[in-house]
Amino acid sequence: MTEQYDVVVIGAGPAGYVAAIRCAQLGMRTACVDQWTNQDGKPVPGGTCLNTGCIPSKSLLESSEHYTRVNHELMDHGVRISGVQLDLEAMMARKNRIVGELTKGIEQLFTANGIDWIQGHGELRAGHEVRVRAADGKKARALQAENIILAPGSLPVELAQVPLSGERVVDSTGALAFAEVPQRLGIVGAGVIGLELGSVWKRLGAEDVVILEAQDSFLPIADQQVAKEALRTFTRQGLEIQLGTRVTACKVKGDKVSVRYQNNDGDHEAEFDRLIVAVGRCPNTTGLVVDEAGLLFDEWGFIHVDEQCLTNLPGVYAIGDAVRGPMLAHKGSEEGVMVAERIAGNAGQVNYAVIPSVVYTQPEIAWVGETEQGLKARGIAYRSGVFPFAASGRARALGDSGGFIKLLADAETDRILGAHMIGPRCSELVAEAVLAMELGASAEDIALTMFAHPTLSEAFHEAALAVDGRPIHIAQARKKG
Ligand code: FAD
Ligand code: NAD
Repeated sequence: MTEQYDVVVIGAGPAGYVAAIRCAQLGMRTACVDQWTNQDGKPVPGGTCLNTGCIPSKSLLESSEHYTRVNHELMDHGVRISGVQLDLEAMMARKNRIVGELTKGIEQLFTANGIDWIQGHGELRAGHEVRVRAADGKKARALQAENIILAPGSLPVELAQVPLSGERVVDSTGALAFAEVPQRLGIVGAGVIGLELGSVWKRLGAEDVVILEAQDSFLPIADQQVAKEALRTFTRQGLEIQLGTRVTACKVKGDKVSVRYQNNDGDHEAEFDRLIVAVGRCPNTTGLVVDEAGLLFDEWGFIHVDEQCLTNLPGVYAIGDAVRGPMLAHKGSEEGVMVAERIAGNAGQVNYAVIPSVVYTQPEIAWVGETEQGLKARGIAYRSGVFPFAASGRARALGDSGGFIKLLADAETDRILGAHMIGPRCSELVAEAVLAMELGASAEDIALTMFAHPTLSEAFHEAALAVDGRPIHIAQARKKG
């Protein structure tokens, strides 16, 4: 028997579960199909983000930052603590507890919103049908809905020359669950995951963290002034970032991993206790749809969608990591809301020009909008204002005064085009720039706004003042005339 719904969502990650909740809020009979099971084999919602991505990684980032602060930074505040010990098992248990609580929360939201959470593998068939196969091989269920939302997420890219191998050569999921701190840690890929997880294990005591990056430039998607500052800071923290390297082979020998790589200086060999492969993620669409359904994919394997996330099939939408755009949880969630609104006949839109990005290292890196190099390449005239945290009273009091905030504004209209920051709590500060850009604010609007003192957000205010050459707390070359 075919079960009828208004909407069937495949995938209960931040794109899919948010879409399902908004559909249900809008009065639609909604089912959300998901195949994820945790390490105990129990089905859990939340997808990559809650189970093996955003949440567990941020939990370990926070714990490792506490460990570093207590060990190395509190002394500067006149707080002396001796005999500090790392209890990695407790740290991991805390991480798992947070993940468990949050995924339970999604289950409760499904129940509260009357969403049928259907556990198993969903397959889109012709005629708006979704066939669900449970992991235990029980009878398949057939669901039918006028509207179907595909949110299958992504998987780590694997490298043929660096095959994953047990606990020694792992992807990001393995790197969130090491049972001991590796003394020599190798990482392939100096992207977001490599930097965040490399920082975690360095702070927890890894002696050497070597990151092998294929590209010659560091963090090319970030503003290059920020990227330069970040590279300098991470190098000072002890991360050895080798750009322009190509890993050619990898072999596990006993409890060591031997890696061969090439760079401009020739061939090299290095030995590590563990190796993390973090070279990007690819859409998770294997077995998602039968050929007869006629769903279009783009040349990189992403589900082809228009600006409103509609696929080539009427009533079939796709959102999140499996479609074009940055692979970020909040981007997928906003697409989920947009699609739900559109299905309900309401207006819904995602402003793809204003998606915040954050790298949760210490210092944090965050940005939104255009980079300086991007504006230059497109020949757009702009003015920039930079304010260093070293001149912020609050950053000084925190003992965390490295980095800066930079604002870019259109030279003619003064409208904010981008904001780039590296420093304390930038993951939170970037929200001010996002809001300003969403509301079409000018740098002068920010300059005319009052910010509480002493706060880190004053640096945002000062960067806006600096666009006009008049920051208060840094001396700037005086304008003539
Ligand atoms: P997913 O979260 O991958 O969820 C997809 C779900 O669909 C999964 O549960 C999957 O099992 C299920 N599924 C797939 N196919 C089927 C099928 N055929 N039938 C049934 N179920 C199916 N992003 C941020 O914004 N901030 C961060 O701090 C951040 N940190 C990260 C850290 C790490 C280590 C990693 C790996 C990623 C991180 N990300 C972060 C990225 C973020 O996790 C993803 O962008 C986000 O999870 C994508 O959401 P999604 O719903 O599209 O897909
Ligand atoms: P990434 O795209 O951020 O970085 C991958 C890096 O690996 C790139 O610098 C790339 O040049 C390099 N690389 C590719 N092939 C290589 C090779 N053969 N040898 C050496 N280097 C190679 O990808 P990621 O770090 O794996 O993260 C995956 C996705 O997850 C990202 O798109 C990101 O948006 C998302 N994520 C986001 C956050 C966050 O928002 N804070 C955190 C983690 C992950």
